[in-house]
Amino acid sequence: MTAAVLSGKTLAQELRQSLKETVSSLAQNGVVPGLAVVLLGDDPASSSYVLGKERTCRELGMRSFDHHLSAATSQAELLSLISQLNANPDVHGILVQLPLPQHINAQEILQNINPDKDVDGFHPVSVGKMVLGEETFLPCTPFGILKLLEKAHVTLSGAEVVIVGRSNIVGKPLALLLMQQPYNATVTVCHTKTKDLAVHLRRADIIIAAAGRPHTVTAEMVKPGACVIDVGVNRIEDLTNPKGFRLIGDVDYDEVALLASAITPVPGGVGPMTITMLMYNTVLSACRRHGIAFPL
Ligand code: NAP
Repeated sequence: MTAAVLSGKTLAQELRQSLKETVSSLAQNGVVPGLAVVLLGDDPASSSYVLGKERTCRELGMRSFDHHLSAATSQAELLSLISQLNANPDVHGILVQLPLPQHINAQEILQNINPDKDVDGFHPVSVGKMVLGEETFLPCTPFGILKLLEKAHVTLSGAEVVIVGRSNIVGKPLALLLMQQPYNATVTVCHTKTKDLAVHLRRADIIIAAAGRPHTVTAEMVKPGACVIDVGVNRIEDLTNPKGFRLIGDVDYDEVALLASAITPVPGGVGPMTITMLMYNTVLSACRRHGIAFPL
């Protein structure tokens, strides 16, 4: 068996086209969805993610409010900016790029974002609603993974899903979503204290690898026919690449692709979906604010 490649890049392009059309019809009502992007410092990975988000915003005809601040910005200054963005009617979504510098209390910052503009879905109100199965902004990476699985018609109801990783941004919310209606999967969440990762992975119909460690999922751990979603993004040295590095996931792609039924590549899998769902949430937020039906 050779796995079908679940291209997040292709699905993201399709969704972005639909979002572009929605943005253009909103413009006829005088509404331009606006996303404020806040970055502290110049970490290369964070800067690259932020630039990607700002560029995508503009490509879709949305407004991007870019706040690139010094790493020395104080908690009080950042809270003051969040308060200005909360009050700005042109801003429909606020994204604070994580991780924040050590001296910043990230939880306090996230809790000060107006939940109506919490397009990242990290505010406790958004998380609480998600746990209760109420309508809210879903965190972008889990949301993008759900879209990829839906598009590929992967059967989720009753499926054994094993997630590697229990972070607040990927593993935990994804587990909460997949166990609920309408997905109805049976979910196991593994982490570094899991006794035998391979035992869990071998019985999985769907594997979601979000450990941030290369080679976490090897071919011996995968049941033939399983669907494998690789969330991990790891930089490894590659002197043949002009950048000096290349990106790989958490899964041994070449070997696992020979026995899985479907697999996401890295890059080009989950990553493009994450940015797209951020745009989706921002357009949704603009529609909600102006009482316009969201067509997607
Ligand atoms: P994180 O906060 O570092 O969490 C990693 C999780 O994986 C932790 O729960 C950790 O367990 C677990 N883990 C690590 N090594 C393991 C192992 N060998 N066996 C079992 N569990 C293991 O990371 P994150 O923010 O969730 O991100 C995970 C990866 O996804 C990273 O590579 C990140 O860059 C990538 N990512 C990609 C996107 C995208 O859009 N493509 C979005 C978000 C994240 P403990 O809790 O016990 O430490």
